[in-house]
Order: sequence, then structure tokens, then C-alpha cells
Amino acid sequence: MKESEIRPKELLKTYLDLVAKDAKKLDKNKFERIPCPGCGSNVTNLHLTKAEYQYDKCKTCGTVFCNPRPTNGMLDEFYSIGESSKYWSESFFPAVAEKRREVLFRPKAKKISDFLSNKGFSPNLICDVGSGYGIFLEELKQFYPNASLFGIEPSESMARISEERGITTLVAMAEHSNEWSGKFDLVISSEVIEHVYSPMDFLSSVRNLAKPGGYVLLTGLGYEGFDILTLQEKSNSIFPPHHINFMSVKGFEELFGRLGFSDIEVITPGELDVDIVISNEPNFEFTNVLKMRGESAIKEFQEFLKKYKLSSHVWVFARV
Ligand SMILES: [Zn+2]
Ligand SMILES: [Zn+2]
Repeated sequence: MKESEIRPKELLKTYLDLVAKDAKKLDKNKFERIPCPGCGSNVTNLHLTKAEYQYDKCKTCGTVFCNPRPTNGMLDEFYSIGESSKYWSESFFPAVAEKRREVLFRPKAKKISDFLSNKGFSPNLICDVGSGYGIFLEELKQFYPNASLFGIEPSESMARISEERGITTLVAMAEHSNEWSGKFDLVISSEVIEHVYSPMDFLSSVRNLAKPGGYVLLTGLGYEGFDILTLQEKSNSIFPPHHINFMSVKGFEELFGRLGFSDIEVITPGELDVDIVISNEPNFEFTNVLKMRGESAIKEFQEFLKKYKLSSHVWVFARV
């Protein structure tokens, strides 16, 4: 997989320009300081600055996070009326949705079913938090043909399409999904945790949807991936006010532990770290030499990153 397949360069550039413009509009005087979203420690150092937003690094668990950060209310407003969010849902996402089905959602569904069947677990009631058009749930259905599918999606237009696909869809944010509490065998949240003001509050509402003994799968960006560790503030993944939480592996474990999850397993099955570094940092000596060693060297290096939890694309499985 190449980064450009799921994030076409032209669209990505327009999108990132709009984000930069939106980001400037937020009043930094109203920003709030928070403790480490992973372990809760207050011992942090300024680690990097991006587009005039500061990111601290937790001295205890190594999590990197925007601090001070826009308030919950500011972020809600940003996502509901910001130009960049509009562009994402009206132009960017529809343009890549079917490509994403093929290269992201289908392999992801397979990987989930492999993981769970290894544990002897087969979910009947499955909920996707932030389900969009329901494409991912459709792919999951291939592996669980008898399961009932549920989605939680704040965008009304997306929720309508998801309903048309036979998915019972609640138009809400995860934080307002109490009517479905304790209902599901498997609850999945993809690529949201890095966006939220309070990862603890968000994950707590995700947890609340699962039955006792049920599984939660959270996927998103982490700090300890080859691309982010290498590119730091030049990484396109670090863009405020969208991506504000980059937890370390330990940070994810601490956060899940603090919420009372058990059987917490962090893996980093990302495919893109090396490709991202090669295409974004043509002067980086290491990847230049790696490239000269050939395609198989690149592939095996990415496999190594996956194996040792060194990709920035993180999955956490845990039980309630
Ligand atoms: Zn920490
Ligand atoms: Zn994101």
C-alpha cells in the first residue's frame, strides 16, 4: 500500500491548507492545560511546536500531546462548522471511500476476525463508533454474516447512507450514546482517539457500550512510530487542532488500565511508516540507503516495525 492511494496528494494538500487556516482562528488565550492523556502525570516538557501549537512530552510514559489545547467546546465548534471538516466529509472522504474499503477496511476486517477467532470469540452484536457510510461494518459482515450491525455517527447525511445499507445508526457523538450502554459484544473506534479533547472521557464512553466480557478495539495514531519519530514536527500526522494526542505504547496501556479494562494488547500493524518517510523527507539518509537495497528491504523493514510496535498506526484490543 502507498500513502497516495488513501490520501491523494492534491486533495491532501488542499485539506491541510484548510486545516492550517481553521487552526489560526482558534483563540489561544482560551486554551486549557491537561495532564498526560495516557498515564495522567503532570510532569511534562515542551517537545515540539507545530503551526504555533505546543506539544508536550510526558516524562513518565513518553506520550506526546498538544498542551495547552483548545477546549472541548472549541473543538466541537471546529468540527461542526470548520471549512476543513466540510471539505473532508464532502470532498476528500467520498473521493477515497471505495479505495479505502479495498486497501484499509477489508484487510482490517480480516485481521480483527483472525485476532478474535484466535481467542475463541465470535461477536453477535457489533458497533462501530464513527461509522461513516458503514463501509467498514459491511466488510466486517463478510466475516460475521449472522451478526447485527450498529453504527454511531454524528453526521446526519452519512448516517442516512449507513441506514440505507442496513445498519442501525444512532446520530450522535460517542459521548451521547447512553441508550446503547452495555449492549455490544464488540465495539470498534477507528482513528478518533488522536482527535479528542479527553481520551479518557472518549474511551470511557466507548467502554460503556460494551457488555461485560465484550471486546473493545481502538485504532489510531501513536507517537512511537518510525515516521513520526523520524519526521517529528514535519510529520503530516501531527497537525493541530485535529491530531492532538500521540500516545506511547505505555500511554495506551496506562489509559486502558486506568479505565478498568483487562487483557489489554497493543499492536502496531501499520503499513505506511517507511513510505511516508521516503516521500516526505527525500534528504533522510537512512531511508535513501534502504531504498537502494531494494523493495524487499523496504518491505522487511516495515514488517520489523510492525513486529516490535514501532509503527505509528496503533491497535488496542481490550476486554471489559
Ligand atoms: Zn504519561
Ligand atoms: Zn485523524
